[in-house]
Amino acid sequence: MRQFQQHHGIGGIGIIRMSGKECFDVLEKIFVPKNYKKIEEIPGYTMKYGHIIQNGEIVDEVLVSYFKAPKSYTAENMCEINSHGGMVILRKILELCLSNGAVLAEPGEFTKRAFLNGRIDLLQAESVIDIINSKSEKEAKASIKQLEGVLSKKIREIKQLIMDEMVNVEVSIDYPEYDVEEVTNNQLLEMLSKVYDLLKKLERSFDDGKLLREGIKTAIIGRPNAGKSSLLNAILKEDRAIVTEFEGTTRDTIEEFITISGIPLKLIDTAGIRKNAKDEVEKIGIAKSKEIANEADLVIAIFDASKDLTEEDIQILDIIKNKKSIIILNKIDLDVKLHENDERLTRVSSNIVKISALNSLGIEKIYGVIEKMFNFNDINLDNEVMITNVRQKNLITQAIDEVIKAKETIESGMPLDIVSIFIREILENLSKITGEVVTDDIIDEIFSKFCLGK
Ligand code: GDP
Repeated sequence: MRQFQQHHGIGGIGIIRMSGKECFDVLEKIFVPKNYKKIEEIPGYTMKYGHIIQNGEIVDEVLVSYFKAPKSYTAENMCEINSHGGMVILRKILELCLSNGAVLAEPGEFTKRAFLNGRIDLLQAESVIDIINSKSEKEAKASIKQLEGVLSKKIREIKQLIMDEMVNVEVSIDYPEYDVEEVTNNQLLEMLSKVYDLLKKLERSFDDGKLLREGIKTAIIGRPNAGKSSLLNAILKEDRAIVTEFEGTTRDTIEEFITISGIPLKLIDTAGIRKNAKDEVEKIGIAKSKEIANEADLVIAIFDASKDLTEEDIQILDIIKNKKSIIILNKIDLDVKLHENDERLTRVSSNIVKISALNSLGIEKIYGVIEKMFNFNDINLDNEVMITNVRQKNLITQAIDEVIKAKETIESGMPLDIVSIFIREILENLSKITGEVVTDDIIDEIFSKFCLGK
């Protein structure tokens, strides 16, 4: 089957991708290269200049890239028509491809074919979508590593550990007259402990990765005029801040996802803070602050250092006392009345930062503190294998449960043939992660999350 794909949107260049054994047949009917060569004579990884033609008329001037099976993204014959980017032209070329025998691709179809043709495993396929959806540099880096197959390799290593021991189990089952059971049990328990530790480590990496993917949910609270909106503005103004706005989970709130120096923050209820700045009547009350703080992984509480603590400030301190928090002493450009060694503050948080939001002074210190608090430097992406999606995480968690069950069956003195059933379950689960054992439904579900053209 021939596949066809269009990248939507207007740009300088539009790309139409076709994949499949007969994609060059379709191409030959609509593309007239400047220097004609038979398809067999065109090597893969080359480009040809020419025109897309319909009824003898030029539709567009294009460049076509040729990829030949198995050396292509899908491992099939592929070509990419680089045309001018306007919607009219792209649609026209699309229609020409379709009327000459191509079929429209489903979302993720190209990557699915790469998987079905054995060029990549399921983990690598999933990493493609993770790369596309990455919200921070660190997350993209983790996904790119996965595309290289590091996680697949780790899973294979774990499976190998299990299979090496299973050989002994088979021997014991097949030759019960050799009394090797005792030894095997101990070896099995040792192997299972090792496997348990490795899987746990992978499971934990998901939580670390979660911060990278979803951002540290951060609330900025403080009494009116403490400087919340000034701080927000200073943060958003920061060099290299990448800001994405989207509607929050509760109606009427806006969440902003920002990344500075690779640290992803998801700021909660920035709309409330902005509104507050514009309209003095609508202030965020203590109750609302409490609500926002409850949702947060990190609370940034801001105080006006040019004044002593007010009653409201004391209530804010009360809100953050059991949270991961940073105390900001703002307005240090003025006469300072509130100091960082104030017992009422140090009692509540060990992270106290002095700034002047108005002058964007000290903002980078806040980032330094966050980096330390969340151990971002410890998440060493260069050495660590990371789990980056929920499907993988759930299978790892199931595998861990099965390891525990297998251990229990051994410890309760079950015969080896029963134990071996449990151990096989672990192997099966791990195979699902890489896609060696996986149902069509699951494959369809995974690839349906892709965007068109990938
Ligand atoms: P919010 O009500 O907590 O959002 O506070 P705003 O950010 O609106 O700030 C209240 C007032 O304090 C405004 O007039 C700001 O210009 C002023 N302000 C904020 N930060 C500073 C600062 O660092 N130094 C000085 N001198 N004034 C500041």
